[in-house]
Amino acid sequence: MKISHIEHIGIAVENLEEAIAYYQDVLGLNCYAIEEVADQKVKTAFFQVGDTKIELLESTDPEGPIGKFIEKKGPGVHHLAFAVDNVNEALKAVESKGVRLIDQQKRKGAEGLNIGFLHPKSTLGVLTEFCGKE
Ligand code: ZN
Repeated sequence: MKISHIEHIGIAVENLEEAIAYYQDVLGLNCYAIEEVADQKVKTAFFQVGDTKIELLESTDPEGPIGKFIEKKGPGVHHLAFAVDNVNEALKAVESKGVRLIDQQKRKGAEGLNIGFLHPKSTLGVLTEFCGKE
């Protein structure tokens, strides 16, 4: 397994429109895509910052993962996503080193990429995602 870069940083927001306004108007970043990911009960907005993206996440369902996160912790940084060549291989590689997985297998995330999550109990409290084309 080889991590090439930070693919994106996921940030939980209460209101996507307000959050987009901040990233665009205050920070001067360009929102290049807005996408709803029904599977994760979120609406996402993307900003490119070098090789890395900022992924804003607004919950579409209070029972969804972002809805629950905001209820517990409030808005803020939600997860860190590393770019890998092959998500299934990367998940197996860390599992073999004792990391607990949320996703045993890759699934489809935003932008058509494959994703898989590691459990924050195994990653020093940082919800960690692998993200890749394979
Ligand atoms: Zn993500």
